[in-house]
Amino acid sequence: TEAQLVLDPAGHVMLANRAFLALGPEGATTVVGMKIAELDWLVRAMPQDAPPPWQRVLESGRSVLSIEARLGDGTPHRRDVVVNCSPVTDGYRRTRGCLVTLSDVTELHERTEGLRVALADLHASREEIRRKNEELTQLATRDPLTGCLNRRAFLSESELQLAAAAGNGSPLSCIMCDVDHFKSINDRFGHGGGDEVLKAVSKALGRGLRTGDLLGRYGGEEFCILLPNATLDQALEIAERLRAEIESHAGSAIREFADVKVTMSFGVEQYADATPDFAALVDRADQALYHSKKNGRNRVTARGRMQT
Ligand code: GH3
Ligand code: MG
Ligand code: MG
Repeated sequence: TEAQLVLDPAGHVMLANRAFLALGPEGATTVVGMKIAELDWLVRAMPQDAPPPWQRVLESGRSVLSIEARLGDGTPHRRDVVVNCSPVTDGYRRTRGCLVTLSDVTELHERTEGLRVALADLHASREEIRRKNEELTQLATRDPLTGCLNRRAFLSESELQLAAAAGNGSPLSCIMCDVDHFKSINDRFGHGGGDEVLKAVSKALGRGLRTGDLLGRYGGEEFCILLPNATLDQALEIAERLRAEIESHAGSAIREFADVKVTMSFGVEQYADATPDFAALVDRADQALYHSKKNGRNRVTARGRMQT
């Protein structure tokens, strides 16, 4: 199956097998007796930056191997071949000719190329799946308006954090907060204006938190914050900072209306039960929030320090 030629020292073809003739121009019955340099279709396919490999072998007496070439100019079919040329020596190690072999690697190359394309497709679809998964996770866990965690994702993530804190005895606190008189903001600026305020509020809250803290949109204009490793005092300090930040900045969210007053009320509670129960913790933070509302809004209340 391998195409073979034997050359004499002057480069005349002394022998050519059928596989070699099949590579060349159609209808060629023999090349024996011709100079290999006359086989244009073969010479042209060789790398042009050096003399043809058989010539180098006849001159140097050393093999020239693994020359890649593409036949196609002057031949009926385009074929990729690997050319090996070795000297034919006599008993005195003198070079008496050259053996030229051409292995057809066209199918191999095509299969390799096919595999390369399939692999690239595979990579592309894997990337697409990864992207879609990310999108799905985003859709399933995020609140579309504000981008913070939705209630369900916030709750399930918080349950895990609470169990971890209960397990290793580290503190954990929860803040509930709610926009004051949000209904009247909606009434004055429309639902779209209200939405802008909600976005600004969640952004301001997020800015004031550390990585590892969780921010969830709990209800319409109600947000819940989980602070792992925070004591009640630390949580109070954080809530107070958030309250001040909202008061001074969230109002500028609606640009068309200067001086919209946006404030929030906060309720804070630290986890201290024997058994981890996140719903109970949120409930107590909510009671503290209710206190803040009742006592004039735009304030922070810790449940442990409420005066009734
Ligand atoms: P308070 O200070 O006691 O919290 O008064 P409030 O007006 O904020 O409370 P209330 O519960 O009476 O009203 C909340 C309003 O929030 C009513 C509802 O229409 C509005 N709301 C809930 N979700 C959204 C939302 O996604 N976008 C907008 N624009 N408004 C919302
Ligand atoms: Mg409200
Ligand atoms: Mg509310």
